[in-house]
Amino acid sequence: MENITTSSNFIKNIVIEDLKSGKHQEIVTRFPPEPNGYLHIGHAKSIVLNFELADEFKGKTNLRFDDTNPIKEDTEYVESIEEDVRWLGFQWEGLYFASNYFEEMYNRALLLIKKGKAYVCDLNADEIKEHRGTLTEPGKESPYRKRTIEENLELFERMKKGEFKDGEKVLRAKIDMASPNINMRDPIIYRIAHASHHNTGDKWCIYPMYDFAHPIEDAIEGVTHSICTLEFEDHRPLYDWVINECEMESKPRQIEFARLNITNTVMSKRKLKLLVDENVVDGWDDPRMPTIAGLRRRGYTPEAIRNFCRAIGVAKSNSTVDGQMLEHFIREDLNLKAPRTMGVLRPIKIIITNYPEDKVEMLEIENSPDDPSMGKRLVPFSRELYIEEEDFMENPPKKYFRLFPGNEVRLKGAYFVKCENFIKDKEGRVVEVHCTYDPETKSGSGFTGRKVKGTIHWVDAKSAVPAEFRLYEPLILDEENEEGKTFLNQINPNSLEVLQGFIEGNIKDAKIQDKFQFFRHGYFNVDSKYTSEQRLVFNRIVSLKSSFKIEK
Ligand code: ATP
Ligand code: MG
Repeated sequence: MENITTSSNFIKNIVIEDLKSGKHQEIVTRFPPEPNGYLHIGHAKSIVLNFELADEFKGKTNLRFDDTNPIKEDTEYVESIEEDVRWLGFQWEGLYFASNYFEEMYNRALLLIKKGKAYVCDLNADEIKEHRGTLTEPGKESPYRKRTIEENLELFERMKKGEFKDGEKVLRAKIDMASPNINMRDPIIYRIAHASHHNTGDKWCIYPMYDFAHPIEDAIEGVTHSICTLEFEDHRPLYDWVINECEMESKPRQIEFARLNITNTVMSKRKLKLLVDENVVDGWDDPRMPTIAGLRRRGYTPEAIRNFCRAIGVAKSNSTVDGQMLEHFIREDLNLKAPRTMGVLRPIKIIITNYPEDKVEMLEIENSPDDPSMGKRLVPFSRELYIEEEDFMENPPKKYFRLFPGNEVRLKGAYFVKCENFIKDKEGRVVEVHCTYDPETKSGSGFTGRKVKGTIHWVDAKSAVPAEFRLYEPLILDEENEEGKTFLNQINPNSLEVLQGFIEGNIKDAKIQDKFQFFRHGYFNVDSKYTSEQRLVFNRIVSLKSSFKIEK
């Protein structure tokens, strides 16, 4: 991997300070996904931040599955998350499951009860909410708050044994119902859920809540800097309370940063799962999805994603990044790596009437006009070719410099051809364009006799190979609705266009995940799902041009 020194940010400064002061000899970070969906580009930001921060200071990063909610979690997600983190280029130190700490968490809860810092409460969810108060009013104490330690120990034991139904009882931390911070008003730390867990099966029917579990997980693993997103800022006092009252030896520090949002993109596993469940997309790895699996299938590279994550930086306030910025980084990466080729996406045949019937010429075409080191390739040229439908017009508007009756253009890397005639079918569609070529005008021959204004691409009809092209637009129209409820109404009906065209025969053996730059069309990736022995399917990763400029 690249030798990276990330640019300075407030989290890095904290780490530097902690190492300098001797508070820590070594830093430990973690990436703690809940296995309730596939990772998305937002997670990549957190992955890059955690792993590169530890790397830079010779520390460690754990991958920890935060699997404390049995209802939504699944082994499929665990496997996909491991694959995606590795694919992004990172190797974790330890691989942990929060569910392996259930016993330890249970014992810490017992400790709280014994210290008079937790109690079993019989209020139902609505009543608890009603007692909680508001930002301006203090909460009301639960009538069960005064239960004795013995009573609480006995009830908690019976909760664990499965004697009560879901929601009948909860364990709450006893903190302060008048705290200005609502999170400190006797938060629930254990609930009953009679549900099978992907890892522990039916061993437990009580499960710890995130705010109780997470600090304990961090402390058990010796995490020094526990980095999370901004919405947990108000939970930090509770995080610290749990660490202290549960008498954890190790004292991790929670630090919050802004989550990544991207224009025209939904970025929450819950919503992405809805797109999958409602068959709006063809799975978590649909190339329109902002998931790591989707970006990979689309043709994004780990390098491009890492560079994007570094460039957006780490901030303390939320903002939305322009989706074009991500595109910028894949263009930048593939410009150096992707071989050039030609493909015709919406073919129309042209016949060069003055070119001999059985002749085939091998033209040497440079792979990159900017970079001679990318070499040349041999491309067959003969009497019948395909060009792009939109490169011919019967009645062109002004400033149309491509083919129309009487006009001459350059075929990329080949000759000037002049449109003489065309043939229409019964429906009036142009099906064949007849041209003549001028042998004097061969590319590279130094011909200077006259100039043409248009250069169009083509493939040789006889040797071309049929291929499918999939073009994408953003899945979501406009900005994501804040409520999130109606985002299913904002699906772009044109987010996928499937075309049957042709590619140069010399890339017919392309393999899944091979990437090419098709002249004038952009960068494409061989699709891993629809490609078969009989058929190559190309996903357009990104078109060639963008006006987007990265501010340095
Ligand atoms: P989602 O709402 O998509 O389910 P989450 O925060 O619930 O996201 P987790 O699996 O709990 O997902 O997240 C694992 C880690 O990734 C957390 O540390 C979380 O802060 C971070 N993370 C999740 N989404 C983003 C994002 N959009 N930008 C930056 N970090 C994120
Ligand atoms: Mg979550």
